[in-house]
Amino acid sequence: MKCNLCPRNCNADRENGELGYCMAPSDIVIARYSLHMWEEPVISGEHGSGTIFFSYCNMRCCFCQNYEISELHKGRVVSVEEFCDICLELQNNGASNINLVTPTHYVPYIVEGLRLAKKSGLKIPVVYNSSAYENVDTIKMLEGIVDIYLPDLKYYDNSYGLKYSKCRDYFKNASLAIEEMVSQVGSVEVDNDGMMKKGVIVRHLMLPGAIEDSKKIIKYLYDTYHDDIIISIMNQYTPVRKLEYNELNHKVKDSDYDELINYAYDLGVRNAFIQEGETQDSSFIPDFNIFRGV
Ligand code: SF4
Repeated sequence: MKCNLCPRNCNADRENGELGYCMAPSDIVIARYSLHMWEEPVISGEHGSGTIFFSYCNMRCCFCQNYEISELHKGRVVSVEEFCDICLELQNNGASNINLVTPTHYVPYIVEGLRLAKKSGLKIPVVYNSSAYENVDTIKMLEGIVDIYLPDLKYYDNSYGLKYSKCRDYFKNASLAIEEMVSQVGSVEVDNDGMMKKGVIVRHLMLPGAIEDSKKIIKYLYDTYHDDIIISIMNQYTPVRKLEYNELNHKVKDSDYDELINYAYDLGVRNAFIQEGETQDSSFIPDFNIFRGV
């Protein structure tokens, strides 16, 4: 099978050793899996989200906070059956959900593994946590399998996508992918324990020096989806290595983040998470606070 899973459309024969832009082999490679407490509270809950970090990435943003996984490819190959067992192990350990982080380049195998896991008793929701740089046909493969979508919306202006992630067409593809995600799972549903059962949370990681682009993202999301989605506005950007673009070698200014939050509030955004406190340290531990409404 030639790989056209994402908008890079490399047409690479990964099963026979050809590599595309993501450099990923055809087998699933996992960097780690664990109960993870640092997602939005409706995802982490008391016990943690059953997070599976996939190695390699189709975006390869120059500022990646997980570059050891995305660029240095730390991880080990797992079979579809092992992936299924990992999902069940996380459920047995009390995970609130199965949280698939950067899964795009393995979707066909993940679908197979999740089908197997569901047959074997996987009951907790499945979260698809991605950059949103997706082909709609790939997202369609997940219909009925994924309960919660947790995409980023990184850039509005394609010049940022070109500069930082080497993609010319980020916004068009990401916005179409998010449209498909919302049409599959509908508006947000939260159970009596405050845990999300279905719906879409769109994350926007604010970048230093790009406040006007961030405003365009928030406005687009609110104008398009109003309260049907949750918007997670993140300020945890941390430079983890020296980058050629000097603006990225700094954290986001508190005053810029406050301005973005006020802008969102004035627009009418209420279903949102914001971050407060010391979220920009080297542990990248986000401290999410409920903005209102969920
Ligand atoms: S998943 Fe990887 S190989 Fe496939 S189209 Fe995207 S970047 Fe290319």
